[in-house]
Amino acid sequence: MTSAIKIVVPTPLRQYTEGLESIEIEAGSVGEALRQLITRYEPLRNHLYSEDGRLRDFVNVYLNEEDIRYLEREETDVKEGDEIRIIPSIAGGSPPRPPRPPPSATQTSAAELSLEEVRRYSRHLIMPEVGMEGQKKLKSARVLIVGAGGLGSPASLYLAAAGVGTLGLVDFDVVEYSNLQRQILHGTKDVGRSKLDSARERLQDINPEIEIETHDARLGSDNALGILGGYDIIVDGTDNFPTRYLVNDACVLLGRPNVYGSIFRFEGQVSIFDARSGPCYRCLYQEPPPPGLVPSCAEGGVLGVLPGIVGALQANEAIKLILGAGDSLVGRLLLVDALRIRFRELKLRKDPDCPICGIEPTITELIDYEAFCGIREAAMEQQNRATGIPHLTVNEVKKKLDRGDPFRIIDVREPHEWDICHIEGAELIPLGDLPASLNTLDSAEELVIHCRSGSRSAYAVELLRQAGFAKVYNMAGGILAWSDDIDPSLPKY
Ligand code: ZN
Repeated sequence: MTSAIKIVVPTPLRQYTEGLESIEIEAGSVGEALRQLITRYEPLRNHLYSEDGRLRDFVNVYLNEEDIRYLEREETDVKEGDEIRIIPSIAGGSPPRPPRPPPSATQTSAAELSLEEVRRYSRHLIMPEVGMEGQKKLKSARVLIVGAGGLGSPASLYLAAAGVGTLGLVDFDVVEYSNLQRQILHGTKDVGRSKLDSARERLQDINPEIEIETHDARLGSDNALGILGGYDIIVDGTDNFPTRYLVNDACVLLGRPNVYGSIFRFEGQVSIFDARSGPCYRCLYQEPPPPGLVPSCAEGGVLGVLPGIVGALQANEAIKLILGAGDSLVGRLLLVDALRIRFRELKLRKDPDCPICGIEPTITELIDYEAFCGIREAAMEQQNRATGIPHLTVNEVKKKLDRGDPFRIIDVREPHEWDICHIEGAELIPLGDLPASLNTLDSAEELVIHCRSGSRSAYAVELLRQAGFAKVYNMAGGILAWSDDIDPSLPKY
């Protein structure tokens, strides 16, 4: 027996479903529905299933609000009107926090509020959920924010304003123009400055009563336990998978709650991972997607206000943890869809087989996260590719153009990127459309492929070579290099 159900496709995978956000399917079980989906949209197969036919670890599938891993897996029956939701990992009720460690004499007096502070926090003090006691808890709290970027900006601004006594910030970047669209900690005058300097100045201006501790470092296995261990609560505002897994693992090993947020285009996720009372990030995603599969914000873009929403939710959760008030997001994943302005909530469960917080953990200390996330392999592969894949520099391509050589330039970026800038004479065939467009290309012709920076086009060159195209070249460095070396009037993005 089959029923009419709906499969909801997440943004990063819509390029493989002709842009469709949801697909109506007649099926009897979750597995049957997914098999129909990948038959209809063949390129999805590789993203959802591994070669041995297993659902990949970095893809979670929900039937309505239940994770199918905890039902009867893919054989779970579906009924009319059910919704299957694919939740890939994106670069993305606990017990009240125990009171802070030993209240030494100095700390007790530090937790008293001055007249200034009473005036500053008066709108908190008159709320029963905060009050004088809650405000003192906030003052005694130590919260670390990893990353002073899109998520760290709103989170740190609100935590500072709320009177969290000690705010730690880890970052090593400088402020860039392209950050200002969403990283509201920093201003135009700060471009080129260290994010930590800029953040400290702004936060101290908002609230001079609090301590700001800055950690000018790239968080790694060598320093994470030392830095994170000095705080009660960790707010994860990172934008890459190695740091996400590092922060998760360090929080599990240290027994700290990890207030998690992630963002991609219009979609956000928020949760609290606290392995002492709920699942951790690895319970949700055992493994990261292979490099390049899920685009980062730099490649995929993000609506500027979305980190504002998600980062503010993270600040809200951190404050509630400190106060021991309300229901926390432990064991719940909140999905924010800013385009439709819908909030959905999924239940998360602790995975008994979780490699770090499960019954028999295999990870008992911090590991090499770059290697774990395949970054190093990917870099090597890219190097191999750079030598294995025929490429031309932008100057060589320009010379060919000037000479009037017969060849075609194929731009494999997305149409909205084409609208930002494109090379005169190039033709647009987005990477996702390339397999279906092979018949519009002639293998006798010479083809030069480019994208933004050269990695999507390297993939396209490989794909074309496998399809029998011999005279195909990658334009090294993409349109960014073209803007640098050939035509500076093209805006860089
Ligand atoms: Zn876990």
